[in-house]
Formats: sequence, C-alpha cells, structure tokens
Amino acid sequence: MNTPNHQVSTPRNLAANDAVPRDAAAVILLRHAEDRSTNPQIFWARRSERLAFLGGFYAFPGGQREASDAETSVAHAEDADTAAMIACAARELFEELGVLIARGAETLTKGQIASLHDDLVSGRMLFAALLKHFGLHLDARDFRFVGRWVTPPFSPRRFDTLFFLVECPRKQEPRVLSPEFESGEWIEAAEAYARWQQSEVLGVPPVIHAVRTLASGLTDDLVERFLSVAQAHREPVRRIEFLPGFICFPVRAPTKPPATHTNCYLVGHRDFVIIDPASPYEDEQSALASCVDDLRTEGRGPREIILTHHHPDHVAGVEALKKHLGGSVPIAAHRLTAEALRGVITIDRLIEDGDSIELEGPPPLALRALLTPGHTRGHLCFYEEGTGALITGDMVVGLGSVLIDPLEGNMRDYLRSLERLRALPKLTALFGGHGPAVGGARAKIDEYIAHRLEREANILGAMCDGATTPVEIVARVYTDVHPKAHAMAERAVLAHLEKLEADGLIRCGTEGNYTVRSSISDDEIGLPQNGGRVSTK
Ligand SMILES: [Zn+2]
Repeated sequence: MNTPNHQVSTPRNLAANDAVPRDAAAVILLRHAEDRSTNPQIFWARRSERLAFLGGFYAFPGGQREASDAETSVAHAEDADTAAMIACAARELFEELGVLIARGAETLTKGQIASLHDDLVSGRMLFAALLKHFGLHLDARDFRFVGRWVTPPFSPRRFDTLFFLVECPRKQEPRVLSPEFESGEWIEAAEAYARWQQSEVLGVPPVIHAVRTLASGLTDDLVERFLSVAQAHREPVRRIEFLPGFICFPVRAPTKPPATHTNCYLVGHRDFVIIDPASPYEDEQSALASCVDDLRTEGRGPREIILTHHHPDHVAGVEALKKHLGGSVPIAAHRLTAEALRGVITIDRLIEDGDSIELEGPPPLALRALLTPGHTRGHLCFYEEGTGALITGDMVVGLGSVLIDPLEGNMRDYLRSLERLRALPKLTALFGGHGPAVGGARAKIDEYIAHRLEREANILGAMCDGATTPVEIVARVYTDVHPKAHAMAERAVLAHLEKLEADGLIRCGTEGNYTVRSSISDDEIGLPQNGGRVSTK
C-alpha cells in the first residue's frame, strides 16, 4: 500500500483543473422541425481524435464565452447575461459550421455569408460589429433554452454550458469549418440515439440526453422533457454513461494532482461488476453505495467487486462497499495485487490473464482480463470485445500522466503492455482510472508510446552530454515539468534507466550513476525500440 506517487503533474494541467467551470454555450441544430410527422434531424460532429479533451466524441457546435459576446445586441433577451450567452452560441455556430442565425440574414447570398464568415474567423471584425455592419441582429426567440449542464469535477476542462435548440434556416447548410471536428452530419435523433445504444458512438451526458429527448419527437412538452432532469439545471452529473452498460462514477480520492477523482466503473446491463471503489471518504462511499442501490432497484445485481491494481487511490472504498452489500459480494483481483494487499484487503477470487467475466444481458457483455504490468506488477485491464471498450485503470488515464515507479513499476513491461493494448482488434473507447473517457483509443496509446520513447531518447541524449544521475537528467530533460514534480520525475527517469540498462544501452556504476555504453550508435539513441513505427504527434 506504500506507493505514494503515481502521476506526474504539469503546471498546465494543474491550472486547468483548478479553474472554476467556464461559461459556454452549445447549439443543437435542428432541420425540418416544423414537420412533426417525421423524426427531427440534428447536426452533430465528431471531435478530432487528436484533441486531448473528449477526442473522438460526438458533440454539438459550441464553445467558451468571449468578452466581446456582451457587446452583441440580442432582441427579446430576458437579461444581459442571457443575451451574451445567446451571442456566444450564435457566434460559435457561425464559426464552426458556417450557419448564421440572425434576422436579416435570409436576404444574404451564400457568397456574402461566406465572406462574413471569413471576416469573423480571420479576426478582421468582431461578431457584434459584423452584424451591425450588415444590418443584421440576433433574436432570443430563435434560441430555445433547453438546459444548463456543468462538467463534473473529474475533468481537466470544465464548462458551465447553456444548450439552445435552433432551427437551421432552409437556405443554409452546415459544414465542418473548425479543426476541432473531423466530420459532421445530419442524423435523425432516433438514429443518433440508436447508434449510441449500439456502442457505435461516444457522447457526454448532455448530448445523449438531447438525442434521447428529441428521439421521442417534437412534442408540445419538448422543452419540459429537456429540462426534466436535475442535471439540466446545473446539478452535478455523478453517473456518466459514455457507452451503454459502462457507468463511470468518479469519486473524490486522495490521488495525485492534477486528478482529484478516481473513476469507479459499474459494468453490465443485468448483473454488474464494480471496478475500483476508490474513495476513503464517507460521503463519497455513500454516494457510490446509492448508485449501486439505484441499479439494484432497476433490477440489476452486483456480482463482484474487481480491482485493477492495489494502489490506495483505487481500493480505499472496497471494505465500505462490501459491508454495504452485506458482505456477500466477493472481491476479485490478480494474484500479485492480492499479495500486495495482504493484511489490508482480502481477495476472495483470483483473476488470471485471459480470464473472461461473463455478464448477463441483454445485451450480454464479456470482460476479458488482460495482465498489463508496468504501472504495477499485477495490473489488470478489462476488454469488452463486442463494444471495443477497454477499462484501463492506471495504464492509460484521461487526466494527468502515469508514473512508472520502480521497482513495482517497470518501463519495459509498461511499453510492452501498451503495445498489447494497441493490438486489440477493436478499440472504441478507453475508460481510464482518472479523467474523462478517451474516444481516439489507438491515437492515445500511440501518443503514450511515442511520449515515452521520446523521453528515453532525450535521456540518452542528456547522458551522452555528460549527465550521469537521475537528478542531473531531470534538470536537463524534464524542463516541461513543474519543479514540485521533480522528485516524481526522478522516479520516472530511474524507470527509463532500468529499461536502458536491460536493453544493454547503458551501464549502472557502483555509486548509483549511469554511463552510456561506449559502442552505442546514433540509431539506438533515436529509436530505442519499436523500429520507429510510432511517430510523435
Ligand atoms: Zn495507480
């Protein structure tokens, strides 16, 4: 249990997660909404896999409020704040999809709208000035408010987002104009919801709520249905279902910054497993217990509590949950995790590499256990072949980075484990132990591998320049890491040095200093392993 550090923080991440949620607006763009006989169509776009935040997720156009949004006049707005948020929504929609929702815009040609768009994104004119110049104005009645959602605190970026339902003018056609999105499409809301139910797309709770609500049609009580859940009124979302059957329930835990929460996962449609009940805090333990009770009320049954690995920020809520469940639900983990937890938590069932945990449906799910040493020796990931979902524990996380701390941590094993995950036949999403899910799964794993190999090459480079100890190497190589995190970085360097020594590229001296093997070639420095297949993004 004595494993203090396992995430290296950077100043950038620290700043991001400490920030209060920022004001933002998003637009749910509707087409042919006046025809109530058919399913309404919405326009959604897939976020680029390269984005650090919610890469690969389906989303609506939108973004952060800018200071200049207060300067845009909006007719019939309730108050100045609402006006600014509507201006923000209209501006973001225009910037990202080229659709201009302004009174008077119906007389503009496509060419004129394109030229206005160019004026805005090139920064030649602010949105307010642009509207004024062309005799256009925004009207609050074109923006139907359908909820205000706050990003949960487990996320590296948090927004307080107002959602507006907007009718797309018949003469305008949205198209993806922002590098944030890789593609976009009109889709029937019912079809969008079905695609999520079939685990084909990833979405955050307000997006899934919107398509589910619209899938029931453009009824008179549409807005009421949008606003019928507490989360649409800024109540924090606790139970996050990025994919059906995979509930992420972040709990506050004494983990390393920038993370403040550890993700507990409840997986299964009928009988379910609880992975990593992590919080030592009573209020968080009872929140998790209530979530488990809710699932039981819905007719689901808890089968087992499962641990990815033994670190305290992943197991501290195990005993409390077991007690809450009357002691009848067994605890399962890998043998090496059981050994590390001896005298602290009793493991009732051992899980071996390749074991399958079959969960009843419909639809049934099968979690295959993958022994992935590197962060800890007994670390397990869980792979669901049908959906392509992968629960990654602390192998890959959605926030911060993973520390490989010898001797429990091993860099060679870690890179091998990453390669193994990368080779899985279908990967839809990574569900990490911290932070939001990751949609661009292979791109993320590639980034992880490339990052480690780049560090390794830099470490060898620093050693060729005369650095011989972890302290000297950190000072030269970890220039992007906050000095407060240097002690942790030294552990990471040690892990790299162990690997380089095992690879036969360096030697360890008697004084704990390291030297590069004299016959080392340039090729070996640049491409320590992997044949250079992975490129740095
Ligand atoms: Zn850990």
